[in-house]
Order: sequence, then structure tokens, then C-alpha cells
Amino acid sequence: MTARHSELLANKESGPDNPYLLLTPGPLSTSPSVRAAMLRDWCTWDDDYNQLVQNIRRRLVSLAAGASEGYTSVLMQGSGTFCVEAVISSAMPKDGKLLVLTNGAYGDRIAKIAAVHGIAAEHMDFPELEPVSPDRLAEKLEQDSAITHVAAVHCETTTGMLNPIEQIAGVVKRFGKVLIIDAMSSFGGIPLDAAALEADFLVSSANKCIQGVPGFGFVIAKTASLEACKGRGRSLSLDLFDQWETMEKHGGKWRFTSPTHTVRAFYQALVELEEEGGVEARYKRYAANQRLLVEGMEELGFACLLPARWQSPIITSFRYPDHPAFRFETFYERLKQAGFVIYPGKISQTETFRIGNIGEVYAEDIKRLLQAVRANIYWR
Ligand SMILES: *Cc1c(COP(=O)(O)O)cnc(C)c1O
Repeated sequence: MTARHSELLANKESGPDNPYLLLTPGPLSTSPSVRAAMLRDWCTWDDDYNQLVQNIRRRLVSLAAGASEGYTSVLMQGSGTFCVEAVISSAMPKDGKLLVLTNGAYGDRIAKIAAVHGIAAEHMDFPELEPVSPDRLAEKLEQDSAITHVAAVHCETTTGMLNPIEQIAGVVKRFGKVLIIDAMSSFGGIPLDAAALEADFLVSSANKCIQGVPGFGFVIAKTASLEACKGRGRSLSLDLFDQWETMEKHGGKWRFTSPTHTVRAFYQALVELEEEGGVEARYKRYAANQRLLVEGMEELGFACLLPARWQSPIITSFRYPDHPAFRFETFYERLKQAGFVIYPGKISQTETFRIGNIGEVYAEDIKRLLQAVRANIYWR
């Protein structure tokens, strides 16, 4: 812990205590020091602030691609979806064709973005309860040579499914296509080497595994792939190339008003990720949280939606208990009263709820949650 960090932690004036712990896929529970970092104002024009932005951009590139050459990063106002839309609407050439690999709501959302912008696109649907198949992808790319870009979701937060991104990337690159990865819910929480994957665009946001607060997203991109976006943008505010060029030419300046407090908190979150031991250490903590959660929930009679081999350490879907008296809303309210916010399910075929274990969440928190769940099994 840095001196600054402990100083901020010790600051009792830093605001009210949180009434509950968020066990959700973002926004998630942040540390008191990340929240405290927001307690001053910044000028977007000033050097101090822009240097902070540059520092963040460098750290993101280094997290995603290590010391590999040829990668850059760009920050974009809005939630994660704004960044996905910025990439899709800026990267696709007029005569390009996008293939979207879908097995959940976030894949579907990418296909919807393409449709809104009138981009030639096809979605290849896989069952919600199965990972994307690299073999079927290879068959598809074999058949359709018009495809220029492929978009894949790393962790499909809808179910908690971890798609086989290394194999997917391998196939996409074997066919020489541009690779876009929605790594929103995994980046910073699961080791991922964008350079080894040869990913062209990798998207995530401030309020997921880096453990910042919401307000902007970011794209880590091959510099050459980003340069190719020049003049392709279909939106003014979401033009990824223009945003990047302004940041490059003006030393960290955003084109339009940036979420200054969120940016400062994000910087603090990056420092704390480093202090924790980096992505590998954070991954271990999340994975330990997830194992503890599943063991405890299974002991209490709950069943996981996904087999363990496909389950991410990010968020877990549980089937509703098979009991007529179970009401999710009641269960949710009771856990909220006990200090824990869980998440509803999002899939079509089965009734589920979700519990996230990312954010400022530790084994003791999961143990307390399990006690609260045990105390609130009111239906049997
Ligand atoms: C959270 C998330 C997004 C972005 O959602 P926003 O609500 O726009 O922040 C996109 N993809 C995945 C996989 C996500 O988990």
C-alpha cells in the first residue's frame, strides 16, 4: 500500500459507507481509496490531467500486450457498449463484412450495433449453454470469403461462459481476418495477451475487472489497425480514429468533455491492481472467490447453470431452486437487507440468477454471503 493510498483510506471524511456489497458484473464494489480519488476537480485542459490520461493509456497497453510493439490504446466516454459501438462503427470499411460469434446477449448486441449502422454482417449463433466452436468458425470462414472482420466475446457475462478465445483467435488469424474482442468483463481479471492473440481491437471498460467506477471504456488496438480506421467512422462522437488521433497529437486530450473524476479513480484502480500483484494475482483471487461460492451454494442445494470446465471466474449463473415457493424478488430483497446485491438472470431458456465475484470482494465476503444465503432460504 502506498502512503497516498493509506492516507486516503484513513480519510474518514471520504463519504458514507456502502450499504451493500455489489456482487454484480459491473458497476462493482470499489475500494474506499478508488472512491476517495474522486474527491477533487480536474481541468481537462491542464497538463496534470492529460499526463494522467497518457499514463493510463500506457498502463493499459502494457497490461494487454506487455512489452510488445505495435499496440496503442484509446479511451472513450460512455459505458462499455459505447466503446464496442465505436470499434464496430469505426473499423468496418464500406465493403467489409462482419461475422459476429454469439452465444449470449453481448454477442447479440454487437450484431445489433452492426445492423443500426447498416454494416454488412452475419451472426453465427451458438447455443447459450455452449462455448463458441472454433471448428465451426473455421468452416464458416472457409465458405464465406467476403468476411473481413470477426467479433467475439471473451467472457459472455450473460451466462458466465468463458469462450475459447485463444483457439478462436488462432482460426481468425489463420484466415487473415481482423479480430475484434469484447473482453469487457474479463480484461484485468483473466490473463490475456492481445499480442499473442494478434487481436486487432480489444474492448473493456472502467467499471469491470480493473475495479474503477463507471463513465468510460477503452480500446487496446494494433496501431496499424487503428490507423486503418481513418475516415471510416459512421458517428462523430464515437469516431475511434479521431478520438485516438486527438489523444496522440495533444498529449492525452479527449475530443469532448471527459469524465475527469472517473478517470482519476481509474488511475487509482490501476495502481491498486499493480499493488495486488497484477492480473495474475487478481485472477487467482477471483477464481478462489468463485470456487468458494460454488462449493457453498452447492452445499446449500443450488445448482450451477454451466459445467465447471466452461465457467469463468467472473460471474456464476445458478438455476432457480426447484420449489414452487421460491421467488427471486423476495430472495433478492432479503439478501439486499443483509448487505449483498446479486443479479438477475438473463438467458432465455432457463430461470436463473447470477452472482458476481469480481470487484473489491474477498473470501471473507463470500463466506458472509453464504451465511446470508443460508439464513434466507425461506422456501423450504
Ligand atoms: C458489461 C459488458 C458490456 C458493456 O455493457 P455496458 O452496460 O454498456 O457497460 C459489454 N460486453 C460484455 C461482455 C459485458 O460484460
